[in-house]
Amino acid sequence: MFTVSDTPVAPSPYFGQEEEDDNPTRRIRLIMKLRSSGVRDTTVLSAIEGVPREKFVTEAFTTHAYDDTALPIACGQTISQPTVVAWMTAALDVQQRHTVLEIGTGSGYQSAVLAKLARRVYTIERHRELLREAEGRFAELGIPNIVTRLGDGSRGWKEAAPFDRIMVTAAAPVVPMELLSQLREGGVMVVPVGEENNAQMLLRVVKDEQGAILTEEILPVRFVPLVSGS
Ligand code: SAH
Repeated sequence: MFTVSDTPVAPSPYFGQEEEDDNPTRRIRLIMKLRSSGVRDTTVLSAIEGVPREKFVTEAFTTHAYDDTALPIACGQTISQPTVVAWMTAALDVQQRHTVLEIGTGSGYQSAVLAKLARRVYTIERHRELLREAEGRFAELGIPNIVTRLGDGSRGWKEAAPFDRIMVTAAAPVVPMELLSQLREGGVMVVPVGEENNAQMLLRVVKDEQGAILTEEILPVRFVPLVSGS
């Protein structure tokens, strides 16, 4: 017989735990999907496997944290699709000794992935609210090698330049020259180029040891715009 009671029912020992335990499983499944979509760089895949994406999405979307889709975050921005994060990170070819500049911290997810691979990550975001939230996540996860700045990332971070690698996670109308000038010789920049609602192309821009620029197209993408002059 059932009775109505104010006494809370003791949760089953598996309640909650089941929820939490789902995330590692979903994460592994996502890694398998990324691998089958052509990302073979095991260092990049391990870095992605090491970052709990559920901590970077807004609460309403935590059950979708391991779907291979971009998701909305605050300020009308998005956390990038995992496949795009994987391709961009692989294209950047980050080594352990590298310092990396990222433009567009957003949720901080991409920064956290880069921080697993590089010596230090400098990341710039123009929305104070997003930056604060991302900083909170870095602190909570104990990530020691990310340095943040509020401002217009298209100006780069002169005091910390030159950078071995630069990743732009918002679409620029053309390759940003100021950022290119802050890239070390032998360095690589990955940047989506194109207008907001038109076709954008992810570019891999290499500055060779003599300072010559070589550009390669990686894949068509869709990013929020890089807003300059803020
Ligand atoms: N890397 C992010 C994706 C962020 S979306 C992640 O993993 O979640 C792009 C971000 O770029 C947005 O947060 C947007 O506010 C930011 N942005 C756009 N223009 C910018 C600029 N000029 N300087 C700094 N950040 C910029």
